[in-house]
Amino acid sequence: MACVSYPYAAPVSQTLFDRAAAVTPGGVNSPVRAFRAVGGTPRFMVSGDGPYLTDADGREYVDLVCSWGPMILGHSHPEVTAAVQAAVARGTSFGTPGEGEVELAEEIVARVAPVEQVRLVSSGTEATMSAIRLARGFTGRSKVIKFAGCYHGHVDALLAAAGSGVATFGLPDTPGVTGAQAGETLVLPYNDLEAVRAAFAAHPGEISCVITEASAGNMGVVPPLPGFNAGLKQLCADHGALYISDEVMTGFRVSRAGWFGLDGVEPDLMTFGKVMGGGFPAAAFGGRADVMERLAPAGPVYQAGTLSGNPVATAAGVAQLRLLDDAAYAKVDAASERLRAMVTEALSKEGVEHRVQVAGNMFSVFFTGDEVTDYEKAKAQQAFRFTAFFHSMLSQGVYLPPSAFESWFVSTAHDEKALERVAAALPGAARAAAEATE
Ligand SMILES: *Cc1c(COP(=O)(O)O)cnc(C)c1O
Repeated sequence: MACVSYPYAAPVSQTLFDRAAAVTPGGVNSPVRAFRAVGGTPRFMVSGDGPYLTDADGREYVDLVCSWGPMILGHSHPEVTAAVQAAVARGTSFGTPGEGEVELAEEIVARVAPVEQVRLVSSGTEATMSAIRLARGFTGRSKVIKFAGCYHGHVDALLAAAGSGVATFGLPDTPGVTGAQAGETLVLPYNDLEAVRAAFAAHPGEISCVITEASAGNMGVVPPLPGFNAGLKQLCADHGALYISDEVMTGFRVSRAGWFGLDGVEPDLMTFGKVMGGGFPAAAFGGRADVMERLAPAGPVYQAGTLSGNPVATAAGVAQLRLLDDAAYAKVDAASERLRAMVTEALSKEGVEHRVQVAGNMFSVFFTGDEVTDYEKAKAQQAFRFTAFFHSMLSQGVYLPPSAFESWFVSTAHDEKALERVAAALPGAARAAAEATE
């Protein structure tokens, strides 16, 4: 990293970051925001408009992070903003049931066939944590299978080989998670059905569930190989375990019905977040009615939340989902495809070995010549090239995820003008990647 220069200073962001660091660990409220993987000063954003972000120093960026996925309609979409403002004017939290929760739940159930019932929560972490608890409560078993490189939020039991945030920082494990908490978790290589088969054989009657990202996006984009998700579903069915598909990232992003809409494999439970909150803290888990009915107050498995189904968050989520029709997804898919072609062209021109891996309209760029099918292969890429590429793009007004292990995200607002700006930045960034040294 020492060889990378940061051509554009960000003095106001730097001042804010210094203030932040005095009162907040590492200066951020979520680790990947800190730019540790790429170096330099994280940009403090002050506003967003369509595909653009403006930082505290007054510089504008084409945003290819979209808040890590949620802003699929771009920033400050007028209809979402209006729905939020109307909700705020009616009151911000009642601690009672409200119609907005029903509308959001109905929208999810209508879109995603395997979801018969759904419970709203406030973060993806809460969704996966609750889904695992429910799976354990339903099956009366304790063990959980997860895959290396898949991230399911910072749930204690799932913080083993958990992808980007953890990968970025090279923490093999995290202090604060006890052996007892992680010991019930079996971490297997992604896309390896044989390993799953072997684990079920080795632990008969002990495995409550298999949780997997519907398509892995937290070690960079690593889609399931053909038959992998279907194989998981079958193995779970054969062994009395639940198949949990984590669609926090892919849900309502890669299609109307998320990844399920693309591969049609029916999970027992699913988790959602990001897009469904319209930029607010709203997430959910749902699935088979006979499983969901085990939740309190219908059943004995406890789960709750003071702000669950918050009226402002649900208003944002409902407004955003209702705008996400087939035309909207076609637009996002087209922008993604254009962008991928531009990236490939620029990197190929400079002879930079790379692979653009795709899952619907999500994609990421691996600096390697080999197909990436699991976490080991993801880690084998030349991440130092990404660092140079990232800073060149940033200096030219394009905001990429500040890690080589993250998906890039676009929105319906990424129009020709925004894409042209990215196109203009790519040749320089590709050159920087080509010239980068470890
Ligand atoms: C982002 C993410 C989560 C965690 O969601 P938070 O809202 O950040 O807690 C869980 N699973 C997947 C697949 C994610 O991408």
